[in-house]
Amino acid sequence: MKKIRLRCPCGVLLTSSDEDGLVETAQEHLAQEHPKLAGEYSREQILSMSF
Ligand SMILES: [Zn+2]
Repeated sequence: MKKIRLRCPCGVLLTSSDEDGLVETAQEHLAQEHPKLAGEYSREQILSMSF
């Protein structure tokens, strides 16, 4: 299955099998690790940084 990935500026690699999952994973990571950034990234921004 194809995986999509997102490299957080802190160096953590987030992966998911679909866009919805990646957005959710990224938002969760931001909320836990970077509370100041939580809510700063829209779905489109997250997906534009994914690879
Ligand atoms: Zn991070």
